[in-house]
Amino acid sequence: MTTRFRLHNYGSINIDHVYRVPHLVRPGETLASREYRPVLGGKGANQSLAMARAGGDVTHWGRLGESDRWALAPLREAGVSSEQIELIEGPSGHTVIQVDDEGENAIVLFGGANQGFDATRLDTLFATTTPGDWLLLQNECNDTATVIEHALEAGLHVAFNPAPMVEAIRQLPLERLALLFLNRVEAATLAECDEKAPTEQLIQALTERYPGPDIVLTLGRDGAHFLPGRASNESVLFEPALKVRAVDTTGAGDTFIGYFLAALQANRTISECLARASAAAALGVQRSGAADSIPLKEEVERLLA
Ligand code: ADP
Repeated sequence: MTTRFRLHNYGSINIDHVYRVPHLVRPGETLASREYRPVLGGKGANQSLAMARAGGDVTHWGRLGESDRWALAPLREAGVSSEQIELIEGPSGHTVIQVDDEGENAIVLFGGANQGFDATRLDTLFATTTPGDWLLLQNECNDTATVIEHALEAGLHVAFNPAPMVEAIRQLPLERLALLFLNRVEAATLAECDEKAPTEQLIQALTERYPGPDIVLTLGRDGAHFLPGRASNESVLFEPALKVRAVDTTGAGDTFIGYFLAALQANRTISECLARASAAAALGVQRSGAADSIPLKEEVERLLA
């Protein structure tokens, strides 16, 4: 496969501790759980997994608690390069998730290792990059601004998925980035637009405010738009979502992003990138779970054939 660039993903790795309970625990209550499953998660790890399952070449930059090193296996099995994942003594980023009989959930999140990145590692990490490589980031790790600044200085193209969205993201040099992946909530916050505004109004506000980067705007079952940035030769594109019966849309955006970038890396056109990403995400939403539900490349190709 000829690839246009190498992709590095500075992203979170979470361990999701999932407990099945008869009802969500009440204040002061101690409740026995019938079932417990630790699951690999985190937007960063999910996006690396999706990229690798799509056949892409991705190196994950992150941190994980030594006691959770089992989580490296599924990443490596998918083909993610894990040599830049630092194993630390403290706790991994993790969630404690209660799921009750009605499917309702309650989640406690602890950033752990994902929040402990230390800028002294920047030189080691950037020594593995070459100008023209791409760096993907989300917003579940600390020091995002520093890492973006270094990437731009090192001549990397930066793709950013500002999730979870916080107001401070507007202070980042978004205009100098290559690509933004936004869902409706993220786009509305950046554009200072009502989340429920008509899509055309949202797109107009977004592109007026951020004319620099290419933008991929995903709108759940309403499909995805490609909005070319100032330096792009592409045109505005729209990819409708596949009509499927969704059972769990967790991680739809992560699957979409990984498949889109893997297709871009494999020299495909933007419209092919959108089609593959949309097919992969549609397969994913028909299964429960996040990382587990990311489809394999062969499944996506069968759907597109
Ligand atoms: P996020 O998970 O970040 O909120 P979206 O909900 O916008 O992202 O979903 C990302 C993409 O996944 C959509 O653009 C679409 O292609 C696909 N998708 C999401 N929900 C559905 C659905 N119910 N049916 C089909 N495709 C979906």
